[in-house]
Amino acid sequence: MPMPPYQVFCYTKDCKNLAKYKIAARWSDGVVGELKTYGLCCEECAGIWLERGRQRFAESGLTVGETLEPPGIYLLERGLRDQTLQRQCELEKRLLALT
Ligand SMILES: [Zn+2]
Repeated sequence: MPMPPYQVFCYTKDCKNLAKYKIAARWSDGVVGELKTYGLCCEECAGIWLERGRQRFAESGLTVGETLEPPGIYLLERGLRDQTLQRQCELEKRLLALT
């Protein structure tokens, strides 16, 4: 029997869904860049986590030379590096229109 694939669950407390999205923001210090992760979530919880990410973003203190984009929603795909995850702009627009 093959091992079941490794699954990641939504970070929301008591949510039993599998995580489908990563809420993250592109960060750079001018030399290296990475995706700063705020949370992993399912489709239903994406709005909550995007909101949470934006609050954390508003509170983040950057030092000189650092840049941080507002957080977005990225489609979580196993085996893909952060840099290649696809940003879900349409979903973001839809969720932000609700708040
Ligand atoms: Zn969830």
